[in-house]
Order: sequence, then structure tokens, then C-alpha cells
Amino acid sequence: MNLLNADLHCHSVVSDGTLHPEALAERAKTNGVELWSLTDHDEVDGQHRAATAARALGLDYLSGCEISVSFASVTVHIVGLGFDAEDDRLRKGLAATRGGRGERAREMSDGLAKVGIKGAFEGALRHAGNPELIARTHFARYLVEIGTCADTNEVFRRYLTEGKPGYVPHRWASLGDAVHWITQAGGMAVIAHPGRYKFTATEEYALFTEFIAHGGRGVEVVTGSHTTADYQKYADLALEFGLLASRGSDFHSPGESHTDLGALPDLPGRLTPVWSALRDRVQRA
Ligand code: AMP
Ligand code: MN
Ligand code: MN
Ligand code: MN
Repeated sequence: MNLLNADLHCHSVVSDGTLHPEALAERAKTNGVELWSLTDHDEVDGQHRAATAARALGLDYLSGCEISVSFASVTVHIVGLGFDAEDDRLRKGLAATRGGRGERAREMSDGLAKVGIKGAFEGALRHAGNPELIARTHFARYLVEIGTCADTNEVFRRYLTEGKPGYVPHRWASLGDAVHWITQAGGMAVIAHPGRYKFTATEEYALFTEFIAHGGRGVEVVTGSHTTADYQKYADLALEFGLLASRGSDFHSPGESHTDLGALPDLPGRLTPVWSALRDRVQRA
């Protein structure tokens, strides 16, 4: 069961990926993925397309999304899996979470203008498949396009992270709201790539404890954002906290993502995978 090639985290043009849901489904199938989920940021509009494309290819599918949350002044991502994508409260919560992105993007653009980068808002918007989901990723692609930086990682390092000219702090959903939107829609909440947050051990403990208290049940252990040391650390934490383990590439784009769909190590055998508790939520081919 742990050896299943499940990839339960990736992005399409509906948020900040560069491929359409149908192209991602084909890429997942070609790469040997056996259970797939499209988890766009703060939006479920690609779910029907992804599920339909997966079915046509004989690929099992779980509905997905990745919700932006503010916790202890840090942005944390919570993945939802296996929910009803038509659920009204979930959709309203995601719409509210998306709400401030336009204004934030204008402020980011103002910050970049101050260091001589003009027209970043319009430039980023051209890269955004969905204007409501304008993200730092789209600014990064624009700055690469105009030759300011060689790649998007360099843009994040020099312009888009805390203390840099294009960084604008933002208040996202609360942890409790995000977990509740997912669970009341019949899904499972999963902490995304915990190794990426710059938490102290105490803050991380608080995140896991509060997440579980709100009804969260899973944590990503094997993800494209983790090092081999992170796999070990979060496998141990999953066991310590009694959380189910998830696996996902966080694939965004062929040119940018270093981990392709389905190209991840297996989940460690000592863990219980999230998909063992989501069998009745799988949309079978
Ligand atoms: P936003 O939701 O607008 O704050 O944008 C966050 C997105 O930026 C994430 O979902 C990633 O796709 C991308 N991202 C964040 N940090 C980095 C980084 N250091 N290098 C490349 N992409 C990043
Ligand atoms: Mn992203
Ligand atoms: Mn994320
Ligand atoms: Mn992601």
C-alpha cells in the first residue's frame, strides 16, 4: 500500500502552474502515477477538468486544493484531499482567501517599482492563468522574462521573500477555518511541506497540536520540497503525532520544478498513508 505511486500535490494554470489540468493528467499517467490529485492554491475550479481527464486515462483521482493559512506570522499551506468540490462553504472560504491577492499584487508592484522594475503588476498578470490567483510565482516568471534574474529561484531570493523589495506580508485564512472547510466538505486536511517553514521546535509543535485539535489528520512526508533529512524527521513526527502520511511532488512547471509528477521516493514502510483512509473518496477510472 505504501508502494503506490500516489502524487497528491501539484498545480495547474488555475493557480500558479503552467500546464492545464488535462496536460497534468497526461503527464501523471505517462510518469506512472497511480493515484493523482490536482491541488491548486485556494481554488477548486480545475477539479472537474482534472477528474474528467484522469477518468479518461484510467487514472484514479482524489479532489484536492492547497489553502494559504497564516499561523504565528508565517504562511503555512494546508492541503485538502477527497472533499466534495461543489461544497458551498468550502468554495466561499476559498473565495474569501483569494480576496486580497489583487491589492497585494499592486503593493508588490509598487515595491518593485521603487527599485526600478516598472510594470510588474501588468507583467505578472499576463503570466496568471487566473487573475484572482495572482501569486508571487507570476511575478517571478515576469522578472525572468524581462531578464532581471536567470531563474525564478533567484527572483524569490532577491525580490520576493521577507525583507526584499517585492515582499508584502499578507493575512491568509486561519488554521482552524481551513481545516474546517476541508473536513466539513468530507475531505481530509494535510499539513503541506512542513520542512519549508522556518519554525522553532516549539512553534512547529504548536502547529501540529493545533492542527490535530481542529481535526487535521495528515502530513506530507515525501514531497518535492523536502530533503532526505526532512523525510526522516517528518516520518518520525507523523508517528509521534499519529498522523497519516502523504506524498506529492508539488509540481508547477516543466521548466521550473525539480521534482516531476510521480518522481518521488516511496513513503517509508512504517507510516500509514493518507490514501488508506480515503478509499471511499477516490474517483475511480
Ligand atoms: P504566494 O501564494 O503568492 O505567496 O506565492 C507562493 C508560491 O510561490 C508558492 O506556492 C510557490 O509556488 C512559490 N514559491 C515560494 N517560495 C519559492 C521559492 N523560494 N522559489 C520558488 N518558488 C517559490
Ligand atoms: Mn505555488
Ligand atoms: Mn505550498
Ligand atoms: Mn503547492
